[in-house]
Amino acid sequence: MIIVMKPTATKQQVQHVVNLVREMGLKDHVIEGTDLTVVAVIGDDRKKDKDVVEQAPGVDRVMRVLAPYKLAALERKPERTAVTVGRSCVFGGKNIPVVAGPCSVENEKQILTTAKAVKQAGAQALRGGAFKPRTNPYAFQGLGEEGLKLLAAARDATGLPVVTEVLTPTEVDLVAKYADCLQIGTRNSQNFKLLDAAGRSGKPVLLKRGMAMTLDEYLQATEYILAAGNENVILCERGIRTFEDHTRNTLSLSAVPELHLRTHLPVIVDPSQGTGHARLVADMSRASVACGADGLIIEVHPDPEHAMTDGAQSITPGSLSELIVSLKKIAGAIDRDC
Ligand code: PEP
Ligand code: MN
Repeated sequence: MIIVMKPTATKQQVQHVVNLVREMGLKDHVIEGTDLTVVAVIGDDRKKDKDVVEQAPGVDRVMRVLAPYKLAALERKPERTAVTVGRSCVFGGKNIPVVAGPCSVENEKQILTTAKAVKQAGAQALRGGAFKPRTNPYAFQGLGEEGLKLLAAARDATGLPVVTEVLTPTEVDLVAKYADCLQIGTRNSQNFKLLDAAGRSGKPVLLKRGMAMTLDEYLQATEYILAAGNENVILCERGIRTFEDHTRNTLSLSAVPELHLRTHLPVIVDPSQGTGHARLVADMSRASVACGADGLIIEVHPDPEHAMTDGAQSITPGSLSELIVSLKKIAGAIDRDC
């Protein structure tokens, strides 16, 4: 921390701040400038509350130097972490995998047909929700364990590893039994007990950004999973809430390169939840690859008009196939492949 005193701060006020720093078990280094005094705090102050120091008389502002997320920070590990889902789907390497599939698992025919079609189109993993977080309690909540079994059958039929959402800490073991990667959704992104339980599951975790989360909060949430002993975390920008109303969410693509500057973890993009409109998915997927995304997660349904959830933002397998052809060209232009 760097504590900047007000130009009017008295010697007693500076001494009070120095005492506070020492009470925290940290060292101080007072720098008296011509206009104001700065107290540099020496030591690991990540567990200390900077706001308390900011309230002290004579303090103007306090700045953190160390990121509050120790394990997720790029400083700890300059090379990108490669997270392997299933046997060979790697996020964070040269290759940019596409995870594709329906928003929800609806029935055996739907998930099997979709899994085969997305594999044919070039997807490297299958998505599909068995436990759905719904705004309305009367809306379709997913097939539960039956849906997980169908996903496992689709994996057996295609070889595609499965990414699926887990909603509660008590269901982590159940979902981990069938899934290759646990998805934690935007609404649960600060459910700290769930993050911790997913961290202990031994499975890779795809953590979506909260729809009202700063990147700093996002990386602190991520830290819960890492601190539980699991470094296999894939981050996912899926759009945030803004005043914009031409899309369901505002897909904040600058979060991708910015996260790469702050963390070693791979970052993927969800252009489906990110836009809410099938017509925008292909362009935003291409933009995601261009800005450095380490993967994409895209909702695909063989019959979007009759999808039980998120039909409006689901593309068809045919569109996915065309999309992947163009993604390969963009990936090639930045020395990656797709
Ligand atoms: C989903 O992937 O279908 C989903 C519900 O995602 P999010 O948590 O980003 O809304
Ligand atoms: Mn969805």
